Amino acid sequence: MAIHGGAGTILKSTMTPEKELAYKEALQNALDKGYYLLEQGKSAVEAVEKAVSELEDSPLFNAGKGSVFTASGTHEMDAAIMEGQNLNAGAVSIITGVKNPIQLARLVMEKSGHVFLAGQGAEEFARQMNVRFKEESYFYDELRYQQWQAVKGSDSFQLDHSDNKDHKFGTVGAVALDALGNIAAATSTGGMTNKKFGRVGDSPMIGAGTYANNATCAVSCTGSGEYFIRGVVAYDVSCLMEYKNLSLNEACQIVVNERLMKIGGDGGLIALDTKGNITLAFNTEGMYRGQRQSNGLNEVAIYR
Ligand code: ASP
Repeated sequence: MAIHGGAGTILKSTMTPEKELAYKEALQNALDKGYYLLEQGKSAVEAVEKAVSELEDSPLFNAGKGSVFTASGTHEMDAAIMEGQNLNAGAVSIITGVKNPIQLARLVMEKSGHVFLAGQGAEEFARQMNVRFKEESYFYDELRYQQWQAVKGSDSFQLDHSDNKDHKFGTVGAVALDALGNIAAATSTGGMTNKKFGRVGDSPMIGAGTYANNATCAVSCTGSGEYFIRGVVAYDVSCLMEYKNLSLNEACQIVVNERLMKIGGDGGLIALDTKGNITLAFNTEGMYRGQRQSNGLNEVAIYR
């Protein structure tokens, strides 16, 4: 299993030891909770949903609690989940008040008869499914608020808790391989600070920020969403494996360090295949990430 908590200009020089520890603990917790389900014989879908839910519940990441502010001072969240065995997928976009958007995305996949629900309709479906809602104050985070104040009223939008020199994308995601050999991917985000006009990023778009196919790989992305959409990044990794017979790692490196960079996109992705190979690739200074494997490897990392 692998997870991420966003990529960007994450430098050791600008991080305090306390903050670094808090991030590492939150990553390890999410990784362990998801991995535990896999050990219990649960499905890859359950594992990625669990790991992403844990990251959504942490205010450190830009998803669920701690999501960034839109131009109008609200929180609009996006999430997607996909199963590699049958290409089932569920996604939600522009939702407000839902405690765990990834759980709603899974319900869309399993209970709605559709793949992608957005806005008020998605919230109506959430109420029908008795999904947990939280009041506005639950999502409030002082740091995110200050970031919004810095760009409020302007036309600029920003990626997570970044200033111009310090890009960080706090989207969260997970990929997993279960005991039956099935893989799954999940991604959840608050998007970009000061976003407007119903802006939707790559995270909930199947094939852009999230994709899973047992024949190739499971992928969850983080970075400047507009570029990931244009590059159809997650599906591009899968296509390079399927059509060109590249290995998981070769495909990821080409997409992240060549094709994405050619159009100006920065960020990264986590990916795995049904053989248990894992690649954590990023073209930024750092990416909050972690991986745990049945051979004993169990690590979380932040910097390059
Ligand atoms: N990809 C996300 C978006 O554009 C941002 C992020 O990765 O933090 O909405």
